This record gives sequence, structure tokens and C-alpha cells, in this order.
Amino acid sequence: RKSLSGRNVFTMEIKIEKTKTPKAKPVDETKLGFGHIFTDHMFVMEYDTGKGWHDARIVPYGDISISPAAMVLHYGQEIFEGMKAYRTPDGSIQFFRPEENFKRMNISAERLVIPQLNVDDCLQALHELVKIDADWVPHTDGASLYIRPFIFAADPFLGVRPGDKYYFMIIMSPSGAYYASGLDPVNIYVETNYVRAVRGGMGFTKTGGNYAASLIGQDEAHKQNYSQVLWLDGVERKYIEEVGAMNIFFVIDGEVVTPALQGSILSGITRKSSIELCKKWGLKVSEKRITIQEIADAYDAGKLNEVFGTGTAAVISPVGHLKWGDKVMLINNNKIGPISQRLYDTMTGMQYGKLPDEMGWIE
Ligand code: PMP
Repeated sequence: RKSLSGRNVFTMEIKIEKTKTPKAKPVDETKLGFGHIFTDHMFVMEYDTGKGWHDARIVPYGDISISPAAMVLHYGQEIFEGMKAYRTPDGSIQFFRPEENFKRMNISAERLVIPQLNVDDCLQALHELVKIDADWVPHTDGASLYIRPFIFAADPFLGVRPGDKYYFMIIMSPSGAYYASGLDPVNIYVETNYVRAVRGGMGFTKTGGNYAASLIGQDEAHKQNYSQVLWLDGVERKYIEEVGAMNIFFVIDGEVVTPALQGSILSGITRKSSIELCKKWGLKVSEKRITIQEIADAYDAGKLNEVFGTGTAAVISPVGHLKWGDKVMLINNNKIGPISQRLYDTMTGMQYGKLPDEMGWIE
């Protein structure tokens, strides 16, 4: 069998055990929130050294049993992905660049010495799981089914080394519209004390440890009434990296600028898509190292037109206020800029099947 796009061939054998006690689906899709409701089924596959990946199965969603000595609980050998399934106006279900997520998962896997997965097998698992829980994909505009693939080391062993036993699982959670009523600017706090990642470290991977490292900055931002943290580089503390769970873009004097991928930030799929769209629209786009001082200077010169974050959750998050030390920059009068709006409309339009898939991103 092939995937919808015909690009991928599905040959893995997946055992299916359906739940005998399906849960009631959420009635009010405007109150889904994020990340606390789970569908009826999950995908599981195991890896053992010498045997490779085996026993692919879809089973009822539920608790799992692992040893208290499981390596992941002690040394954090874990990676994950985040993606969504979208409901289109004709009721069908589609994905946005899902292959990119599984390619990125393999990049994370390599850094954390986790065995590689076959991307076609991952896509097959995704398709089959979403097919079984298709009724869980919300119908409300802006809501979606959030999908969380993850891998962890499960050997019951307290020595520090890569695991010999892994689980690859996919769980899914219906989630509400990020913006209840259209795009809304967020306020961002530049963290100057703590750092999230360094080049040579794990910043470019999606591993739990990066998020653990970021919690304290997030806490500090919340105390100061800012919603998210903008991280600076870990060495000189002056180059801009990324936001908590988003990449960051600036429009300076008409030019779209985003930090170059240098090993310490995540290569966002929304980032990549935004760059590709801006280039297609004929805008000047640069990926480069950029300091927070340069941003402040552009702001003082009246040349900082727009600031926005990109990520799967919100797609585009315009930034209204950017706080760096004592300086609070009011961006575009706390209004949504034209490039932010166009990127948001274009990507969400494609994701929800309301605009043609001109880029070949829909699966
Ligand atoms: N940076 C970090 C740290 C993230 O967690 C995310 C969310 N996955 C992003 C950037 C944005 O990536 P994407 O566009 O693939 O969601």
C-alpha cells in the first residue's frame, strides 16, 4: 500500500487490538484546551538490540508498566515530536508535512544515540492510528488532533550508557483552537540569566531535557507577566536563538530575518515553511546570526516592522511587546503585521484544506 500522496510505501505489519470500552468524545470542542484528553488508541513498537524494531501494534490507550530503573527516568534518553491532523470542510483528514517530523525525529535520535526508525513505517503508523481514531479529529474551525510520537530507553539499568531496549509510541490528543478569535499578539521576555542550550549540546533536538532546562526561564517570564521566553545564545548571551516552543522571525526594514540554525535551536517545520513561502512571495529572507542589540537598534530607528514566532501550536504568534532588561519594545503598535497575517492565513488555509496545496505540503 501507498500513502495518500503516493510518495511512501507501507509494508510494516501492524497488529490491531481495538478498545472494548470507547470513551465519550468531548462534546464542546471550544473547551478542549491542550494536552489533557487522549483518544481511544495508541501505537506501540519496541526495539531490542540484535532484534531491531519489532511488534508494531495499535492497542487501547492506557497506562504502561516500566521498571523504576528504566533508563529514561534517570538519564533522560528520550525524544519526541509534535504534529497535527486537521479536518477539512468535506470531512476528510489531512496532515501538514508529516514526513518532516519523522525526519527530524531521526535527527534527534542520532544525537541521543537512539536507533533510527524507517520514516515510511512511522508514516504508516501515523495513518493507521489516525484512521482508527478518526472520529477524534475535531470538526471545529481551528481545533485539531495533536499527535505526539516519542521514543524512550526502557532498560532496567542504572549505568550510564545508551539503552538496548526502546519503546516508540504515538499518542493523540484533541486540542482546541490556539486563537479563539483570530490572531492575537503575545508578550515575550528576553532571558539574560539562564540559557537553554549551547552549540554542541542538544538544542537542535526535540528531547525532554531541553524543555526541563527551559522551565525556570518560563517561570521567571510568567512572574513578570510575559507569556514566553526568548532565549539568547549560551556563550556570549547576545545572539538570538528561539522562543520556548517557537522559532522567531523579525521584519527589519522590509527584510525577513531569522536566526540561522547553528546547532542550538530546533529546526522548526513552520520556520522552514515560512521561509519557503516568504521567498516564493519575493520577499528578502536571511537566516543569520542576529544580536538582541541589533533588534533594539532597529527598533529605536523605527525599522522593526514585525516580530513573530512560528510553531505547530499557534502557526504564527505575532509579538506585541518584547522586553529586554529594562527596555520594553512595543512592536507594530501591538497589531498584527501584514507578513505575519499572510503567513498565518496561507498555512492555516492549507492545513484545513481551505486553500489549494500549492507547495505539496499536504499529505
Ligand atoms: N522551537 C522549539 C523549542 C519547539 O519546541 C518548537 C515546537 N516544535 C519549535 C521551535 C517550532 O517547531 P515546529 O514549527 O516544527 O513546530
